[in-house]
Amino acid sequence: MTCCLNPACHNPPNPDGTMFCSHCGTGLVVLRNRYRPIKSLGGGGFGKTYLAEDIDKLNERCVIRTSNK
Ligand SMILES: [Zn+2]
Repeated sequence: MTCCLNPACHNPPNPDGTMFCSHCGTGLVVLRNRYRPIKSLGGGGFGKTYLAEDIDKLNERCVIRTSNK
């Protein structure tokens, strides 16, 4: 599962191996070639937070945050 990072996307989860979100067309990215977002944890004033896998740590789960700036 790779999560679309477009804040306006209504259905962010996409299957593994997908290059672009099937709902909004946004490119699905691995942040810093390391963190793969897999699930949205919700948003707030500072941006949205995501549950992610750290590829450098054998896909250990972590939380990442994207800025709205
Ligand atoms: Zn999307």
